Amino acid sequence: MKKLEIRVTDYSKLLDDEFLTRIKEIGVDVISFGNEGCYLHLPDIDTVETIMRKTDEFERKAIIPVAFESHFDKVCRYVDQVAEKVNAIVVNDYGTLRHIQDTHADLNLNISLGTGISFSYEFTPWYAHIFEPESSQIADSFLRSNMDNEWMYSFFERHTNNNFEIEIPVLPHILNSSDNLKEKGYRIGILLNGVLITIARACPTARYFKMMAGACREVCLKKIDVAFTHRWDFFKSDIIEIQPRVREMIPDMKVFGNSMYMKNSETSLESARQKADTLIYDTRFYESTDMMITMIEEQFAGV
Ligand SMILES: [Zn+2]
Repeated sequence: MKKLEIRVTDYSKLLDDEFLTRIKEIGVDVISFGNEGCYLHLPDIDTVETIMRKTDEFERKAIIPVAFESHFDKVCRYVDQVAEKVNAIVVNDYGTLRHIQDTHADLNLNISLGTGISFSYEFTPWYAHIFEPESSQIADSFLRSNMDNEWMYSFFERHTNNNFEIEIPVLPHILNSSDNLKEKGYRIGILLNGVLITIARACPTARYFKMMAGACREVCLKKIDVAFTHRWDFFKSDIIEIQPRVREMIPDMKVFGNSMYMKNSETSLESARQKADTLIYDTRFYESTDMMITMIEEQFAGV
């Protein structure tokens, strides 16, 4: 049975009875909350407790952001506080994963490997340009999931006692790998809305709105559309225009806070739905709850 998951970064939604009733009605199984890019956007522990009380009809997942050195201890402390409360944790870096292995081995936590850990070179917006001169064999070895090889399989067998789900966006090459990953016992969570391509250490949205990092919570929930037009040229030490031929290969981007997403591949949507154990919808990508629910009803029907 496929599961339906809703990812929420605006926590006020999870405290709203009407929102919770509506997503229950359409068959949502899992609620995930947190932020994959920024620890300043995690809900404080009182809010987590309230979310837990309000959402006990759902499975709950805590999304843990990529932990840079400067705030690694804070992220670990947060993990310690939520680990026993939730059904699963989404991890985006090996440091946090290691912390969970060392500190919470007894909990046998369900872990989702977010796209900070599970990735492909396909997440590079201009990958088609980079691999143009390469053989299909070379391209395939870079574009498949980084988790889909013997070394990674044995790494995870040796180092963990957890149940893993792997999060994968809707892109053709990484989706091809999901059959192998399933064979190895991983569950597949499909991220239906966008492909996380980069996370900035310093929040560009805070800078754009001339705010201090941490005061940017509200503006960082807003979607900002951006397009690549120029790039840094290392040899000229200057910014140059991207050639139109390459520009055409690069999809437009969306920025939320310090995280940048590119559009996924619509032609791969059907295959993604087939392969998914969990279909994951992110509320940030919809103008309203109505729009999200309409999309879910269209896409989730019959799977
Ligand atoms: Zn921010």
